[in-house]
Amino acid sequence: MKYLFNITLVLALASLSAYSQQVQSVSDIKCGFNAQYNVDELDFYKEKNNETQGQFYSTTDSSDCVQHYVIPVVFHVFADNAKAKVPIEQLQSALDVINRDMNGLNIDYDDVDPFFLDRRGKLNITFALAAIDPEGNPTNGATFHPNNAGFGNYQDYDDSVKAYAWDNYKYMNIYIMNDLYNNGVTNNSGIAWYPNTNMSRNNLARIVFNYVYLGNKGSSFADENFQSVFTHEVGHWLNLAHTFEGGCDGKNDEVDDTPPTLQSAGCGPGTSSCGHPVNGDNYMDYTACYSMFTQGQVERMLKALTTHPTRNSLWKVSNLKETGTYDHYIPNVPSSQFSADKEIIREGESIQYADISCGNPNKWEWTFEGGTPAASTQKNPNILYSTPGNYMVTLVATNDDGSSEESTMQIRVVSKTESSIGESKENLDLFVYPNPTSDRVEIRNLEYSSYDVSIFDNLGNVVLSGTVTNGNSVVSLESLYTGVYHLRVTSSNGVYYSKVIKK
Ligand SMILES: [Zn+2]
Repeated sequence: MKYLFNITLVLALASLSAYSQQVQSVSDIKCGFNAQYNVDELDFYKEKNNETQGQFYSTTDSSDCVQHYVIPVVFHVFADNAKAKVPIEQLQSALDVINRDMNGLNIDYDDVDPFFLDRRGKLNITFALAAIDPEGNPTNGATFHPNNAGFGNYQDYDDSVKAYAWDNYKYMNIYIMNDLYNNGVTNNSGIAWYPNTNMSRNNLARIVFNYVYLGNKGSSFADENFQSVFTHEVGHWLNLAHTFEGGCDGKNDEVDDTPPTLQSAGCGPGTSSCGHPVNGDNYMDYTACYSMFTQGQVERMLKALTTHPTRNSLWKVSNLKETGTYDHYIPNVPSSQFSADKEIIREGESIQYADISCGNPNKWEWTFEGGTPAASTQKNPNILYSTPGNYMVTLVATNDDGSSEESTMQIRVVSKTESSIGESKENLDLFVYPNPTSDRVEIRNLEYSSYDVSIFDNLGNVVLSGTVTNGNSVVSLESLYTGVYHLRVTSSNGVYYSKVIKK
């Protein structure tokens, strides 16, 4: 017997005295990212998120999504004798560092504070030196120039930055120099900007980084942890804020699974800040123990990669071919998935479907048995149902690499006169008890079956759903208010509906 729904995650937080550990190397040579001046487009994502969440009754698990992204990169190197000072091997080693960290391949990935082990997240991404330049000529992915300074400033150097840039919608542009702000200080590490349409349109999107901390070859003297400061900057470039943004209060970094913290509050189990355990291992803090992003941060980076116009052109297959980086790409056809805002409606009502496929499809083929229209090529179609019955919905999603298998869902349309939605039984011999119940119901007589369980409220909204892969199950109703609900079990043997009363 399995517990289907794990509704309440109780985090027992030990009360620990806060202390601050000074980490010389990283915290003293800060990244120049300044949220006040770094015009972000956070609201853009917030709106996007809200739009999306409004359509879904259940969230999909993105962990099985294996979409691989390749980002074509060009370095513009400024130094005396630049080619020898910052050789191409050093530039490649810097990409090796971010490819290692972003994909969770760092040796200390399993060595994080146990409290944060289950929160770790990773991308499936390769940053690759461009092999074709904007004119279509071969390149090694770098341009070398006499010494220069100041490209880390917010405005005054825009003309220079622009003069060296390669098309921001095709290449990630990284400027390498020693004096980022042209103020004589040569130990600042780097600075990056959030995705920003105005900057990319003007070819100003960039990371500016100091070659003495870049990668592990050539003129770099960064230790292993400090090499990952470059990873930190790429995090900003993919719309991540510092985990300590806003201190203990306020919107913080807008990522749910990174507790609020103060800057450089420390490393290791038992460290706390703002009354929470500190995720000092996080790349977006300033610490000497960089080793992880969280799943929330990965979701945010993916959102930037896939929805922001300044980032979602970079990894398109057509662009990889144009920039000579397609060899790095692991093709994958989409895996189609979709959601519906309701699964039971009355005749004459509509269902809003939303594509949530993995693999960034650009073409959709829907069929709607019993629906109007009966087929659609829209991403998120709205379908009217006029006649009572059980109907299948199917989706095949296609991207540049090919088409998915068909995914399906069964929906139910009941007549206007039926007094209560649900309450039917077809071919499925099982029982659900206790009913009425105070906290849970058990589903029996399905020892060897796999099946889907959904619980609807009286308006037909799904309030709980899940899949049981083998056998009887227990459904926790703890998160529901008292009232009348409709339970639906769908298996290969049929569909079963039962009214469930929560006391
Ligand atoms: Zn930073």
